[in-house]
Amino acid sequence: MRLSRYFLPVLKETPAEAQIASHRLMLRAGMIKQAGAGIYSWLPLGFKVLRKLENIVHEEQMRVGHIPMLMPTLQPADLWRESGRYDDYGEEMLRIKDRQGRDLLYGPTNEEMITDIFRAHVGSYKDLPLTLYHIQWKFRDEMRPRFGVMRGREFYMKDGYNFDLTQEDALHSYNRHLVSYLRTYERMGLQAIPMRADSGPIGGDDTHEFLVLAETGESEVFYDSQITDLKFGDREVNYDSHEACRAVLEEFTSRYARTDETHDEALFNEIPEERRRTARGIEVGQIFYFGTKYSEAMGATVQGPDGKSVPVHMGSHGIGVSRLVGAIIEASHDDKGIIWPEGVTPFHAGIVNLKQGDAEADAACEALYAGITALGLDPLYDDRDERAGGKFATMDLIGLPWRITVGPRGLKNGVVELTSRRTGESEEMAPEDAIRRLAEIYAPHRGAPVF
Ligand code: ATP
Ligand code: MG
Repeated sequence: MRLSRYFLPVLKETPAEAQIASHRLMLRAGMIKQAGAGIYSWLPLGFKVLRKLENIVHEEQMRVGHIPMLMPTLQPADLWRESGRYDDYGEEMLRIKDRQGRDLLYGPTNEEMITDIFRAHVGSYKDLPLTLYHIQWKFRDEMRPRFGVMRGREFYMKDGYNFDLTQEDALHSYNRHLVSYLRTYERMGLQAIPMRADSGPIGGDDTHEFLVLAETGESEVFYDSQITDLKFGDREVNYDSHEACRAVLEEFTSRYARTDETHDEALFNEIPEERRRTARGIEVGQIFYFGTKYSEAMGATVQGPDGKSVPVHMGSHGIGVSRLVGAIIEASHDDKGIIWPEGVTPFHAGIVNLKQGDAEADAACEALYAGITALGLDPLYDDRDERAGGKFATMDLIGLPWRITVGPRGLKNGVVELTSRRTGESEEMAPEDAIRRLAEIYAPHRGAPVF
């Protein structure tokens, strides 16, 4: 993309309404524009990051055998009357009437709708296990929408639902989700710690939330510092193996890590004092096992091997895709702007032409642009006729992890400059070497085409 032809409405001033870094930076970098309280348009740069996260979520879901689909945002109230949640959900649910006077709602989650789909089409244990998911906009009429996309009213969420014959199988599905989430967040450049949680309106006995540590997080968290040393890395896990998934779950949940809702002071004090940590965290996902709560209420049964009809065991699992854009920025920025992890960056590298209009500099930039594009990577070329300082400030603000600076002086010696946004370190090299370096840097971050 050439910046002169892109739509990147960066703001010079810091917007007064934004209280935290991610909200400020998303507005300043031209990623979002508020449409109403807790409702945002995703401008091109923000949209690109949202799509990157969505792709990672799809890839990791499909890797473990979950099946993508899409359910509507509007749902008939009658489905929710069956589960009893139409009245229970309270003020957070946006209720709508259509012209026929029928009650609808803008879905805050999809347990009822997926259970309805399941009961219409699945009747035998032979069709299990089954996990269906979608990534769709949700609406919750939050009392205090704030912090930009972190606590929106309309937000983008992956929600998945597992259907299993037995409790044991459903707990395996739960464990598999936990393992797959660990890998998902790490690919986004985040450490998200699974913490024992309270179940809230979804209900159920087993639930973990995934929290990213950040000063601006809304949850207070308590944990054993050893947990931050754990890395999922690129290990191969057999996701069909109950033992393999349970082993990973145990590795990542055996140390103390809880939010204020489930915090147990006595247990916490059993950790050696030097390892006790109190901090704040952003909830970026949650998984639940809730057994037969919905299947019993809504008649989602299958015929078991013995011919008897039994309600299926279920769980639901959510990832806050739009909140993650803010959470990543909270975890990765400095006073100049955003610092995108390679796995989610909207463009892979910026090209800054220090002397637009200089035949040699223009030609070198074009060659870099073509070379990077030929690798299947996506460069952003600042080809505007602007001062170098302004170009650098824009690149720093929008946070591309790598920048190539091209100027007549370097070109005389056959070099351009490759700069890391994270460390600020620059290295001079031939343009072909800069391209080669980008190929190496991004090799581990290439996803498969999703569909
Ligand atoms: P919270 O406690 O933050 O209100 P929740 O526990 O009600 O969230 P879940 O039902 O667990 O939310 O939804 C799954 C994920 O969706 C959450 O982990 C979070 O990342 C995201 N999410 C929930 N509410 C919002 C919101 N208002 N804005 C943006 N993302 C949200
Ligand atoms: Mg939650």
